[in-house]
Amino acid sequence: MEQIVRIAVQKSGRLSDDSLSLIKECGIKFYNGTGKLKSTSTNFPVEFLFLRDDDIPGYVADGVADLGIVGQNEVAEKDKEVVLLKKLGFSKCRLALAIPKGTPYEGLEYFEGKSIATSYPKILKNYLDTHQIKADIHEISGSVEIAPSIGLAEGICDIVSSGSTLMMNGLKEVEGIFNSEAVLIAHPQLSDWKKSIVDKLLFRINAVQTGKSNKYVLMNVPNAALPKIISLIPGMRSPTILPLAEEGWSSVHSVLSEDQFWENMDELRAAGAEGILVVPIEKMVI
Ligand code: ATP
Ligand code: MG
Repeated sequence: MEQIVRIAVQKSGRLSDDSLSLIKECGIKFYNGTGKLKSTSTNFPVEFLFLRDDDIPGYVADGVADLGIVGQNEVAEKDKEVVLLKKLGFSKCRLALAIPKGTPYEGLEYFEGKSIATSYPKILKNYLDTHQIKADIHEISGSVEIAPSIGLAEGICDIVSSGSTLMMNGLKEVEGIFNSEAVLIAHPQLSDWKKSIVDKLLFRINAVQTGKSNKYVLMNVPNAALPKIISLIPGMRSPTILPLAEEGWSSVHSVLSEDQFWENMDELRAAGAEGILVVPIEKMVI
C-alpha cells in the first residue's frame, strides 16, 4: 500500500492562502507551482490535491483523499460521511437570510410561502424545517445576491462576512442561520499508519494554534513589586526572573494569552512594571 497521506485543499479561492500558510507553519514543505493539481511534500509523508472546494467533502468521503481542508458550510451542505478533526479558525463566515432593504421584516414567518434563492439548499431546508417554515427553495450556483432584483426570488440565503455585498445589491440580512469556519476533515476509516501521520499533523497544528493565541511578554520590574507581578502573570509554569544590570530591578518573562494580557495591562503598570514588550510566539507545545 502506498505510504502517503493525501490532503485535499482548495485550488484557488478564499480558503487557499490560509490553508497553505497553515501547512507551511506546520513545517511541511512542498512545491506549489501555478496550475499544479498535485504536489508531494519533500519532508513529510503527505501529498496535496488542489481541488474546487465543493468537491473536497466527497473526495474525502470516498477515500480519494484522506484529509481535506474546507469550510463547514460545504461539509454540511454536501452531507457526506466524513469526520471533523479540527476547527482551523480561518475563513470565518456565516450563512444568512437576506431580503430587499426596504421590505419590513418581523420574523421568520416572513418567508412562509416565499421563494428563496441559494447555493445551500440542504442547510436552508434543514433550518426552515426546524422552524416549521415552508418556502420555495431555488437552487442557483452563484451570483445569488442578484436574484431578488431580477424577480427570481423574494429572499436569498448566502454567505455573508462583512455584509457589503448584500448592501451593494440592495439587500439586508435578517437571520443568521449557520456559522462556518475552515475545518480539517478526514475519511472515516484510515489505516493505523495514516492515523499516526494524522496525529503528527494535528500535534503540529495545535502547536501553531496555541502559539498564535499566546504572547511572550517581557517587562522590567522593581524587585519590591515582584510578588504582585508574579501573581498577575502566572505563565506556563511560572515566570522567568532575571536580574537587570541596575541594582534592585528584574526582567520578568512570561507567556500570556493575548486577552489575559490586555486585561492585566493596567494592573501590571500600576504595580510598577515598565518597558513591557509583547512578542509573537511561532509555535508552542504545552
Ligand atoms: P471554488 O472555485 O473552489 O468552488 P468558491 O467560489 O465556491 O470556490 P470561495 O468564494 O473561494 O468558494 O469560498 C470558499 C469558502 O470560504 C466558502 O465555502 C466559505 O467557507 C469561505 N468563505 C466564503 N466567503 C467568505 C468570506 N467573505 N469571508 C470568509 N470566508 C468566506
Ligand atoms: Mg465552490
